[in-house]
Amino acid sequence: MTKIKVMSENLANKIAAGEVVEKCASVVKELVENSIDANATNIKIDLQEGGLKEIKITDDGVGMEHDDALLSFQRHATSKLTKEDDLFFINTLGFRGEALPSIASVSEVDLVTCSSKVGTHLHLKGGKLEIDEPADSRKGTIISVSNLFYNTPARLKYLKSEQYELANTVSFIEKLALSYPNIKFELTNNGKTLTKTSGSDNLLKTIHEIYGLNVSSKMLEVKASTDDYDMEGYICKPEILKSNRNHMITIVNGRVVKNNDLNRAINDAYYTYKPDIKFPIVVLKFETDPTLIDVNIHPTKQDIKLSKVDELYKMIVDTIKNKLYQELLIPNALKEESSDISLPTTMIKDEIVTEKVIEKEVKEDNYQTELDFSVSEEETPYNEPKELIINNEFKKLVLYPVGLALGTYIIAQNEEGIYLIDQHAAQERINYDKYLKALKEKEITTVAPLFPINIELSASDFLTIKEHLDILTNMGFVVEEFGYNTYTIKEHPTWLKEGYEEESIHKIFDSIISIGSRFDPVKFNEHIAITLACKMSIKANTRISTEAQEEILNELVNTDNPYNCPHGRPTIIKFSIYDLEKMFKRAMN
Ligand code: ZN
Ligand code: ZN
Repeated sequence: MTKIKVMSENLANKIAAGEVVEKCASVVKELVENSIDANATNIKIDLQEGGLKEIKITDDGVGMEHDDALLSFQRHATSKLTKEDDLFFINTLGFRGEALPSIASVSEVDLVTCSSKVGTHLHLKGGKLEIDEPADSRKGTIISVSNLFYNTPARLKYLKSEQYELANTVSFIEKLALSYPNIKFELTNNGKTLTKTSGSDNLLKTIHEIYGLNVSSKMLEVKASTDDYDMEGYICKPEILKSNRNHMITIVNGRVVKNNDLNRAINDAYYTYKPDIKFPIVVLKFETDPTLIDVNIHPTKQDIKLSKVDELYKMIVDTIKNKLYQELLIPNALKEESSDISLPTTMIKDEIVTEKVIEKEVKEDNYQTELDFSVSEEETPYNEPKELIINNEFKKLVLYPVGLALGTYIIAQNEEGIYLIDQHAAQERINYDKYLKALKEKEITTVAPLFPINIELSASDFLTIKEHLDILTNMGFVVEEFGYNTYTIKEHPTWLKEGYEEESIHKIFDSIISIGSRFDPVKFNEHIAITLACKMSIKANTRISTEAQEEILNELVNTDNPYNCPHGRPTIIKFSIYDLEKMFKRAMN
């Protein structure tokens, strides 16, 4: 009887393993989360062959007594959480109780753990206990999982190459390290260290340790709160972008999550600061009441559903936009040398701030009963009314044009260095702002064209325009049918560029014709503004006068985002005097 019971339990474990363990990274996830639950401050992950051969986790957590160690390899129904939502109410990270027995049933596990005087050494193969003996009294746990899926060939073939498995694990550990800057992580593969953080409890320093100086020196700190959400973390300057969303890291109540609402808000906040196909690097932590979170999807997928999304969206977009408005975002033409490992000075400042915060928290803990309604100076809620001077940093630059290179780039200078401005991109930004403002204007001034403008269309396009005539009317056009599949323009808004009225009207008609089933006025205005701005801006390889160059620079200063054209491409780059001196070997170091 006993034997049958063991077999069925082992079988159940094997089946469960298929749900919990899909790849090496899921084993690492389960084991490392156990370490975190055990209050470890130091977690080392050593892989052999990307984890395919062996996954070994060493931590300095509380460890286990002999009996608990044995129990951890048994399925116990009581430990299974009744609702997945419970994950957010309790102080653990994953599915407890299921994972370890499942992993053990499909691999070879070696465990050395100790919580007090005597340690325990257990060895299991295919879920069967083979060694149970005392071990030394090093506090913490060392667990190694080798030959994963050796006894389930069907599963084994789903494991991918070493590089694939490794990439997944590295990505997971990087995200975990960013959500726990207070924990020291080290990840090695075949003896080579791939990721290492110092457990400094300083998020920027952790970002530096993971992404390097090129990224960490271009991160901007953000902080905001609403009634329901607190947000803090770092966003990148638009000059460093990635080709995928993997580095938009969002952590909700201590847990790395993938959430479309959060990603959309972050991406929208960077609108026109970056091309649509590029994505920023951000690490944002959110704290909220657990009741506002719904874990409605499989927990290993890290997806959650959030409530009060509109409020959250507004906070994220406003905070990021405001931050970008306040910064000087001209990219340096030369990249910093990656060999330079010194930390940015702001980090030292940050460390002091962190210390202060800890001091403050300790104080607050001691006086918990005292209510304090005073507003802390450090916390400025994002929606606090304040006069935001847009692009003040850019306005401070006084740039003098000194010439035009390749008929395309305005060369400008000031006391800090040389700037190259893409004349088309810059004018595109200027025109885009103008058109967008004109399109949003409630009062439209119109004018009758000097010469009749007739727009001849195909029969189907003619009908599409007829269907959407109200769009044209709202924009200030007076349009009449004029013979066969033709419209005549009686009046048009005055903001159409002089001499280019007919061309502009054609573009607007094209935009209306290309509208799908749903008309979104905001997107439509965007589209018109970008299309006309591009069309009406000087092309590359066009010689323009010094006066025209000056005018572009003066007008660029007053735009919403002088750093990018509406497609997100840069308008201006800088060669600092220091960079130039270095290149000409005037400065030696
Ligand atoms: Zn263009
Ligand atoms: Zn553009």
